[in-house]
Amino acid sequence: METKDVTEILAAPAAPVMPRITVAHGDGIGPEIMDATLKILFTAGAQLEIEEVALGEHEYLAGNSSGIPQKSWDSIKENRVMLKAPITTPQGGGYKSLNVTLRKTLGLYANVRPVRSLHPYVQTKHPVMDMVIIRENEEDVYGSIEHQQTDEVVQCLKLITRPGCEKIVRYAFEYARQHNRKKVTCFTKDNIMKQTDGLFHEVFREVAQEYPELEAQHLIVDIGAALLADSPEKFDVVVLPNLYGDILSDVAAQISGSVGLAGSANIGQNYAIFEAIHGSAPDIAGQDVANPSGLLQAAIMMLAHLGQARVAQKVQNAWLKTLEDGTHTRDIYREGVSRQLVGTEDFALAVISNL
Ligand code: NAD
Repeated sequence: METKDVTEILAAPAAPVMPRITVAHGDGIGPEIMDATLKILFTAGAQLEIEEVALGEHEYLAGNSSGIPQKSWDSIKENRVMLKAPITTPQGGGYKSLNVTLRKTLGLYANVRPVRSLHPYVQTKHPVMDMVIIRENEEDVYGSIEHQQTDEVVQCLKLITRPGCEKIVRYAFEYARQHNRKKVTCFTKDNIMKQTDGLFHEVFREVAQEYPELEAQHLIVDIGAALLADSPEKFDVVVLPNLYGDILSDVAAQISGSVGLAGSANIGQNYAIFEAIHGSAPDIAGQDVANPSGLLQAAIMMLAHLGQARVAQKVQNAWLKTLEDGTHTRDIYREGVSRQLVGTEDFALAVISNL
């Protein structure tokens, strides 16, 4: 299978020899996919010191409404880089999404989600898709600004700022330039939300002029979403406000083969958090069936970010070889395409055997 130079995925800052990272095992399938991922990283020779922290459902249910104990904050702020498994946000009022809190508090304005199909090794209707979704990560309707207006009326505010738009749109164009991509597409609904989405589109138009070598395209999000689901090969870098990015990156990963395949990097000026794009999948937790690939892809981006490009590439190649061999977890296992159905642990062992 064609391998991609993952060292290009993110700009790597100067790295200490043995960086310490914060690790959260998460909820649901989190502990299983984190164990699998860490086992692969260490066997591959990743130079990392791990500091494990408590985070998530257990903390929420113990009465901490943010889900993040102070000790965990201290670790994240000191280490600056975190590998995080998915977290379950308990349903109902009073529980704030800790993902949103982390992203906003740490200024993680860019959520980078590469998605590509692995045809013919992983079944998909879209053999040539290869896009990077760059989602604005701090604003929009994710600001937790929600009010009960009357007994029968509730309101959620959509917050979009010019500095926020400029940061994310410029990040997307810079990313495209540095990674030799050809086109940046922006989705908004500015025919209806003329002020908020209108501002995002306006900034996109302005920033695009600074990058004449890149094709810039804008689509209204409804038809954009339809085209992305139908003809993903037409997209390259996609930049979009928070909510649309959240939804469409799940769509993109799912049509590439499985939501379990894609990883993400939450990037800010001073901190970075790497995680799978999917949630804690409580429906399959504890069954050794989850695909650890999304978290592994995030971890590969983390290694590149930490300056360990050689190990990142080694893990990526072993992962691709495993999929190419047809060693597949249940979400991507298809008769006639796959050769061996494996659980989470055995998938990790197969990747390790290909290192
Ligand atoms: P989900 O992404 O957890 O699961 C959706 C579907 O995809 C399920 O059928 C699940 O079994 C399947 N799936 C997900 N990951 C998989 C994997 N690695 N391998 C195989 N199958 C996989 O979405 P959900 O069920 O809507 O959310 C569950 C919980 O996760 C909620 O509490 C939600 O708030 C939380 N969540 C957390 C994060 C995060 O921590 N970053 C992100 C999204 C959702």
